Amino acid sequence: MSFEALGLSAPILKAVAAQGYETPSPIQAKSIAPVIAGRDLMAAAQTGTGKTAGFTLPILEKLSNAKPVGARQARVLVLTPTRELAAQVGESVQTYSRYMKRIKSTVVFGGVKINPQIAHLRGGVDVLVATPGRLLDLYNQGAVKFDELEILVLDEADRMLDMGFIHDIKKILRILPKQRQNLLFSATFSDEIRALAKGLVNDPLEISV
Ligand code: AMP
Repeated sequence: MSFEALGLSAPILKAVAAQGYETPSPIQAKSIAPVIAGRDLMAAAQTGTGKTAGFTLPILEKLSNAKPVGARQARVLVLTPTRELAAQVGESVQTYSRYMKRIKSTVVFGGVKINPQIAHLRGGVDVLVATPGRLLDLYNQGAVKFDELEILVLDEADRMLDMGFIHDIKKILRILPKQRQNLLFSATFSDEIRALAKGLVNDPLEISV
């Protein structure tokens, strides 16, 4: 299995090669083509499996027809439990999109000033990586809108539930367009995660690595 065979185009392949990745990891081999095809996904994957590229690469592929994004809109929302993970995912998005034209991404999380984040969102972004509480603050201030949202990713969903984010997540789900692609990543699939997934994913492909 090669990255080429998974349907990724030249600028993304170039970024992957520049990172020194030679072959897709098992989760990437299973997730990339179905995500490009538009499937919802439920993936059981720990950190270290290459899960970040497993969702970032196909998402960037889907965004590569870069249509302009409206003011304050986000086309892809990635929710993470912690600011550290948000920053890490944001860096991956930057790294893998570096040879693409016109892909805008930003990261927002709590505990830092909100005004610079409001400014970064003003022109709209293709990919927004966020922790739940700060995202809701930004939304309530009118700094971000989701009319153009195409894809939602919940990363480390089990940790989000452990950290008590369930109510924030439910609030966020209510403000997103119903028609969207959903990708759910969790280290384990507990009953709680399955219950959350029920109201979230639609005919998902289930992957475990
Ligand atoms: P993650 O599980 O997403 O946190 O990724 C774990 C580490 O694996 C990161 O440092 C990535 O840069 C690296 N990585 C991701 N995909 C590949 C790959 N296909 N080949 C080699 N390294 C990879």
